Amino acid sequence: MKELEERISKDGRVIGTDVLKVDNFLNHQVDPVLMKKMGEEFYKEFKDQNVTKIITVESSGIAPAIMTGLCFEKPVVFARKHKSLTLKDDLYTADVYSFTKQTSNKISISRAFLDSSDRVLIIDDFLANGQAVKGLAEIAEAAGATIVGAGIVIEKSFQKGRSLVDELGIKVHSLARIKAFENGKVIFEED
Ligand code: 5GP
Repeated sequence: MKELEERISKDGRVIGTDVLKVDNFLNHQVDPVLMKKMGEEFYKEFKDQNVTKIITVESSGIAPAIMTGLCFEKPVVFARKHKSLTLKDDLYTADVYSFTKQTSNKISISRAFLDSSDRVLIIDDFLANGQAVKGLAEIAEAAGATIVGAGIVIEKSFQKGRSLVDELGIKVHSLARIKAFENGKVIFEED
């Protein structure tokens, strides 16, 4: 998605060797116009798959997932990272190692919001080592739901997530694919 690549080049900041900071438009301040176009791109890709539900992980996946859900006119469920008084029982859970926080989180979705009749589209902001998508896929499988694919805003194809998700047999559609970071500059994969 050309517009996303241009925005990453303009506003993204490379941190160290493998992290991209995009909090100017994606995961702190959010550009809803760009986000809507992302939802439309995911819709175009998966519209023939009879999607019944969009699933993601809080918090950075929520904005692109909501816009995707709006295009499909289907509900969006975001996995929670912390249990609370209102989210305690009857959960599907998975362990997810966080790439950016370097800690393991349990993510949970209530059994009330996912079942074997669902055809789910996984949405997330980044694909790095693939742990978030893997955890969401484990939850969908535990519910007996069918996974139609994963829509990723930014894939860092130099990390191992893509091959892990390919091995799981999940179709991935990424809006921007980053081949490398070179001297603080983002190099994209050719189309
Ligand atoms: P994975 O589970 O694929 O290893 O990592 C994906 C998750 O880690 C995403 O949900 C995202 O929040 C976070 N993440 C991974 N790489 C980056 C990055 O380069 N920048 C930011 N801002 N978040 C990232």
